[in-house]
Amino acid sequence: MEFVHCPFKLCNVCCINTEMPLLEEDIERITKHGFKREYFVKEKDGFLVLKNQKGKCVFLKKRKCIIYQDRPLGCRLYPLIYDIDFKNATIDYECPQKEFFYKYTKNKELIKLLEKTVNQLLVEKEKRNKITQ
Ligand code: SF4
Repeated sequence: MEFVHCPFKLCNVCCINTEMPLLEEDIERITKHGFKREYFVKEKDGFLVLKNQKGKCVFLKKRKCIIYQDRPLGCRLYPLIYDIDFKNATIDYECPQKEFFYKYTKNKELIKLLEKTVNQLLVEKEKRNKITQ
């Protein structure tokens, strides 16, 4: 499947102070590179999200993502995000190139994947809640 293609390689805004949520399958894929879970995963509001180091994602080195081929699903879809209040896919208003990406809000395959990802994140959050109760 083709994910969102970002041609603005030097932008990196989405990797600065990231709060990208992580699926368990993202974590499993990334740990296969030898990264310990504690190195890149933290909890925020019940979700597991990427950690930052000095204000940027721990995987952003010299303006490049060092796990690009195996980056989290959320990073592959960004700036396509899901608006929980309006229950629809939209483009993150914080993306400086948002106009370029609006076409992706019409891509049914990606929207389906985004919705599936959001549902999975909620299921995993619920499961963790049950375990800690
Ligand atoms: S995993 Fe890669 S693409 Fe995702 S926020 Fe970190 S550096 Fe950016």
